[in-house]
Amino acid sequence: MREYDRVYNFSAGPSQMPLWVLEEAQKDMLNYHGTGMSVMEMSHRSKDYQAIIDRAEADLRDVMGIPDNYKVLFLQGGGFMQFSMVPLNLFRKSMKADYVVTGGWAKKAAKEATKFGEVKILASSEEKTFSYIPKVPQSEYTPDADYFYICHNNTLYGTQWKKTPEMLPGVPLVADMSSDILSTEVNVADYGLIFAGAQKNLGPAGVTIAIIREDLIGHAGPKTPILLDYKTQAEAGSMFNTPPTYGIYIAGLMFQWIKSVGGVKELQKVNEKKAKLFYDAIDESALFTCPTAKEDRSNMNCLFVTGNADLDKKFVAEAKEEGLVNLAGHRSVGGMRASLYNAMPYEGVEKLVDFIHRFDKANK
Ligand SMILES: *Cc1c(COP(=O)(O)O)cnc(C)c1O
Repeated sequence: MREYDRVYNFSAGPSQMPLWVLEEAQKDMLNYHGTGMSVMEMSHRSKDYQAIIDRAEADLRDVMGIPDNYKVLFLQGGGFMQFSMVPLNLFRKSMKADYVVTGGWAKKAAKEATKFGEVKILASSEEKTFSYIPKVPQSEYTPDADYFYICHNNTLYGTQWKKTPEMLPGVPLVADMSSDILSTEVNVADYGLIFAGAQKNLGPAGVTIAIIREDLIGHAGPKTPILLDYKTQAEAGSMFNTPPTYGIYIAGLMFQWIKSVGGVKELQKVNEKKAKLFYDAIDESALFTCPTAKEDRSNMNCLFVTGNADLDKKFVAEAKEEGLVNLAGHRSVGGMRASLYNAMPYEGVEKLVDFIHRFDKANK
């Protein structure tokens, strides 16, 4: 059994955290660095807390290579709140935006944006249950769009953009990276805005990170609720009101952990190895198939099915007996899903693959 009797948790989110992060938090729980108090008991206006948020931001800038003309904001409201904040702030000239609908989250984001401006769905893969990333020729892009929106990793249906779409000049690219931020190297300068809820790949639920190019701040209309205007938190160092202090602290530990294991470059290598190990096992099995297009398969959320709902249930139940938990697919999709975020060690995937082989033999 693993240390502390912990399981391999394949949940899509909230999800498994690195043991080092949890142990650091445990050490700091009752008395953070001689302050005599827990981080969650600290005033967000204290010097000690300011040092925590400053370090978290500096480490995130470092691991992601965020240019100086981008603000890093620690927000609340989850990925979902960004579905409203993006249109409220970025509709500013033509009031038009392009969306590529690759799954449930992108679809919800597009629907929310229609309240605030003119949304063009450039393409959707819904007719094939979002099993691929549609290719859209640049000639179909709206030339004067205020922004172009993608969901970088499709948590529910297991697809991922492997190449950033090339923008028309002057059109900022907006990406929801809730489920793959820091899993793979990205060139932040290719984006106008990147956002991510923390609970998949960078910390506990309750913190949302937005990385936004400075010239895109300050365009919200006068009726925009004050906390939904990026400018409010950008000017206040994410401290206009009480930030999710403990969550930011844990996310900060996550960034320190990423640095300690060699940065995003190293994690990307491991993530690619993990995903290959997993998908090869599925492709070689007699029983299982992967419903997503090969070239678009996500390295983070990996879908697989037997085609028989009872057998799928049996797999999930027997895996649980072996300490491999949360492998059931999303309730809207069915089948199985293994989420292989940064915190899932290679050994966890080896254990899963070993079980897949044994289940395959025993049930074909
Ligand atoms: C989970 C998820 C969301 C929604 O996140 P909440 O924090 O629950 O609001 C949005 N986008 C993607 C890609 C997600 O995986």
